[in-house]
Amino acid sequence: MPQFDKTTVHMKDPERVEQIICGLIKGGAFKLQIITDFDMTLSKFAVNGKRCPSCHYVIDNSKLVTDDCRQKLLQLKNKYYPIEIDPHLTMEEKYPFMVEWYFKSHSLLVEQRLQKDKLAEVVRESDAALREGYEQFFDRLHQHKVPVFIFSAGLGDVLEEIIHQAGVYHPNIKVVSNFMDFDDNGILRGFKGELIHVYNKHDGALRNTEYFKQLKEYCNIILLGDSLGDLSMADGVPNVENILKIGFLNDKVEERMDKYLDSYDIVLVKDETLDVPNSILQKVL
Ligand code: C5P
Ligand code: MG
Repeated sequence: MPQFDKTTVHMKDPERVEQIICGLIKGGAFKLQIITDFDMTLSKFAVNGKRCPSCHYVIDNSKLVTDDCRQKLLQLKNKYYPIEIDPHLTMEEKYPFMVEWYFKSHSLLVEQRLQKDKLAEVVRESDAALREGYEQFFDRLHQHKVPVFIFSAGLGDVLEEIIHQAGVYHPNIKVVSNFMDFDDNGILRGFKGELIHVYNKHDGALRNTEYFKQLKEYCNIILLGDSLGDLSMADGVPNVENILKIGFLNDKVEERMDKYLDSYDIVLVKDETLDVPNSILQKVL
């Protein structure tokens, strides 16, 4: 596959990757499911060196929050994002900091009494963008009825609006994320369900047993992520025969490269496209 010759593609064990892809090809469309992260995996990390927003940042940077609140959210990001990506801390060490970040930032958003009917507009006005090749990616998966589980520690309402506005929110997609809870007047009053943060994704399959039970014949998985926390998104999925883990390494590349190569089968370094996943799907489907 010519896409594998790109300088962005790194693999520790190319033979193993080939073996897994052969397994995926053998199983074809009927056995394949996708489990994917959203922020900085399906969405772009940067365009021409300028950072693209996460779901949270779409709101943080919007007219829906006051300048004072934006400052506070930014201070939180400046404190906690470096912890999220710190190569010298374990996931266990990061965990309580992530809980703290989400608790504080979500409380600030609730204080702002965000209006549900303004979300579409702020998404439209934001710089949020899906990676190049997203139409091909989502359309092909839809065409072949491949189930897509988007598992995001971002904001579900924003995420859904982004893929809806991009015209790719097809019925084969299921989104599990942090969804806002609005009162009868459409004002944010909290968040639904248990918090999903960057490092508690290992519970995902357990919390969505019904979904994965229905998919028990779909024993081949392509997992896409950008964080080491995303690696555990398929934990607890029953009957896995082949799993291919593709990781986007966007930031702190040198410091994190070894760990990513050890844990992801394919590492895509500063690659703002879905070319590699698309080339694999083209073979499998
Ligand atoms: O979709 P995903 O699981 O990647 O979403 C989580 C991302 O949201 C994290 O990478 C984190 O940097 C970002 N985040 C944020 N602001 C917050 C909480 C998380 O930008 N308040
Ligand atoms: Mg992410």
